[in-house]
Amino acid sequence: MSDRAPRLGDVIDDYCPRCRLLLNHDVTSLFEGEVAKVTCRTCHNPHDYRHAQVPAKRKAPRKEDRKSLIEQVLASLPKPPEPPAAPPAPLKKRRDLWAEVERIKGQKRE
Ligand SMILES: [Zn+2]
Repeated sequence: MSDRAPRLGDVIDDYCPRCRLLLNHDVTSLFEGEVAKVTCRTCHNPHDYRHAQVPAKRKAPRKEDRKSLIEQVLASLPKPPEPPAAPPAPLKKRRDLWAEVERIKGQKRE
């Protein structure tokens, strides 16, 4: 914060609604020792002093709306069907078991 009161012609940072950027501004109007109006040094657009506050972007809430809309649609959709029950033990495993039995038998013969 500056130590002294603002004066006309001071250059201060503020948000320019036309440039939509935080830019240097000339103080063009004072009210009760506070900056009332400023003029953008880039586009020379005079506007109320915004205390260097950048307004909240509109895109953010829109994005939220879109996201919630998608969530709403997803919520309204029927739930996906349950996955089929696990199949019984695959035949291959049983064959392997028999093969193992045969192998053991073979070993016993040797
Ligand atoms: Zn501007």
